[in-house]
Amino acid sequence: MAEFGNPDVVEESVDVLLIGGGMACCGAGFEIMRWIEAAKKEKGVDISVKLVDKAAMDRSGAVAQGLSAINTYIGSEQDPADYARMVSNDLMGITRDDLAYDLGRHVDESVHLFEEWGLPIWKTDENGERFDGSKGMTSLKDGGKPVRSGKWQIMINGESYKWIVAEATKKALGTDRIQERVFIVKLVNDKNDPSRIAGAVGFSTRDHKLFVYKAKAILLAAGGCVNIFRPRSVGEGTGRAWYPVWNAGSTYSMAAEAGAELTLMENRFVPTRFKDGYGPVGAWFLLFKSQATNAVGETYMTRNKEMLDDYPPYGQAAVPASCLRNHLMLKEMKEGRGPIWMDTVTALANLRETLSPREVKHLEAEAWEDFLDMCVGQCGIWVGENIEPEKKNSELMPTEPYLLGSHSGCCGIWTSGPTDVGAPTAETEAGVPDHLPAGWNWGYRGMTTVKGLFTAGDGVGASGHKFSSGSHAEGRMAAKSMVQYVLDNQDYNPELDTAVEDLVAAIYQPVKTYLEHKDYTTAIDVNPNYITPKMLQFRLQKIMDEYVAGVATYYTTNAHMMEVAGEKLDMLKEDAEKMRAKDLHELLRAWENYHRILTAEAHLKHIEFRQESRYPGFYYRADKNFVDEENWHCFVNSIYDKESKKWTCFKRAHVDLVDKSK
Ligand code: FAD
Repeated sequence: MAEFGNPDVVEESVDVLLIGGGMACCGAGFEIMRWIEAAKKEKGVDISVKLVDKAAMDRSGAVAQGLSAINTYIGSEQDPADYARMVSNDLMGITRDDLAYDLGRHVDESVHLFEEWGLPIWKTDENGERFDGSKGMTSLKDGGKPVRSGKWQIMINGESYKWIVAEATKKALGTDRIQERVFIVKLVNDKNDPSRIAGAVGFSTRDHKLFVYKAKAILLAAGGCVNIFRPRSVGEGTGRAWYPVWNAGSTYSMAAEAGAELTLMENRFVPTRFKDGYGPVGAWFLLFKSQATNAVGETYMTRNKEMLDDYPPYGQAAVPASCLRNHLMLKEMKEGRGPIWMDTVTALANLRETLSPREVKHLEAEAWEDFLDMCVGQCGIWVGENIEPEKKNSELMPTEPYLLGSHSGCCGIWTSGPTDVGAPTAETEAGVPDHLPAGWNWGYRGMTTVKGLFTAGDGVGASGHKFSSGSHAEGRMAAKSMVQYVLDNQDYNPELDTAVEDLVAAIYQPVKTYLEHKDYTTAIDVNPNYITPKMLQFRLQKIMDEYVAGVATYYTTNAHMMEVAGEKLDMLKEDAEKMRAKDLHELLRAWENYHRILTAEAHLKHIEFRQESRYPGFYYRADKNFVDEENWHCFVNSIYDKESKKWTCFKRAHVDLVDKSK
């Protein structure tokens, strides 16, 4: 019988494996069935599929708590080229227009599906009056007008957003094709072709079971990465972060180990949020027209406006790049004019001048609802600190850095773009290692540089601002391509490059370490033969915070600091081999840490390679504190070699496909 340290090993073969149960995999899981049915009907080919999620899909991923806005909806008033322009400017000019444009022309379809499945979307009528929820009103698909909180955002009643989206996926796939509470640890390459994917291994976080999957195509969409930097919330606040704590860089690390090319891993997102609760600010800025000020009530975006001129053209756009908005705020903090305030009092007073008392009351309720929908902890802070937003302003704070590719960040995996949008060819791709596909499209939308390995959502690099709707749409696009890939590779028979016993031994090593040494001391956490996952995580966070531009140094680093960080990370990796797992929960924590360390290392290597500070306000290299458009207006990409454990960074040319002068 299976017991701790001696798990049952379940081997399974499928054609398509979906890793993750977030917005991207929900999109893929929903979409794939129609292409599988078409393949059966038209070609007589049976294609099998399975979705695995480390958590329970109804509340997994970044949308777990719900959201109050869908941040990407193009609508009839904008076009995908505008969207690609916005994405590019916000991410300091270096994004893939082919990916952004392609997303822009498909994303609305996902939003229409959400509405069809029952998600209440706010609407306005012909008189401009707003309705929270869409009951009885014309659907978006049929021309209904959404309430926009910003140019690209639309308001929803979204506490149950993830539940609704997951339900549709469950219905499409059927629950037999879904396995929850399985943490995927490693991807496995093909024995006969190392540049091809052949499977994945993981373990149940509930039972003593280990799963070995063989698959022809895999969608790796396990979200972004949090908790590689020491969070501002420590001690009594441990566990609070802006980004959901369960996405641990699995997407980036597993792809890197499988040999996939990563892109822009130097990019990070440092959101400015309500202090301590990490509550969202979008509705306050966009819907209530609130201003952020320094301690003495000066609007820093006006006071420090000329600083934007140092970064043309990104600083001079109607909405300056997100990192630059932080840059202007950080000046106030560094020069001692903090704290920074969200001036909710003035915003609500201004609204009172134009709106009726009933409407203002309604808006105040919406302010609370904004938190209740997506960040309930912030309500706790407001209640606990006696904050009534109409009477007392709230403090803002830039958070610790996070790595992600679908929100306001663009790190991730280098993927194949659409076939019908012009993109660079082999000639413009000088300097790219020979074994990699040249250009931006090598056949299957969403495929990485490893054959058969696809990604979506936070996984796709160089194309941020997709958000929940875009990640779902990208998952759907990947699903269609994967079915095509399986059809084109029907003769392929995946063979794992590592023996199953070796995979099992590697995954359960932290358990073995614990069982072997646990009786050496009487205090379970104090033992010279092992380190607890919690302590190891603290060490990683300390290194990244103090040397790789965390909050401790106001997001500043330099070549010397990064050299020290590299040495310390090497030692941390040695000690990571000695992590213990005293139960399945710690085994999960141990492997999350492995994924975090590799992701952190990629981040460090990319910042070291890029000889400039491309994202001022998100990070500064004090020794290269400028944006160098002449030499560094390019992608920084990397390849990790799992044998030598070395990273190779290189440049890829950047080309604008959309006219940015408009
Ligand atoms: P996720 O949805 O995060 O899904 C990742 C999935 O992978 C999860 O199911 C997780 O359990 C699983 N997983 C992780 N590791 C493993 C592993 N090793 N093995 C198996 N499974 C694994 N978008 C909007 O439109 N509007 C908003 O207001 C908005 N606010 C946001 C606020 C925050 C704090 C954040 C973080 C994001 C917000 N977004 C918003 C963006 C949106 O949530 C993301 O773009 C979207 O969820 C990304 O989809 P994904 O599938 O890539 O990742």
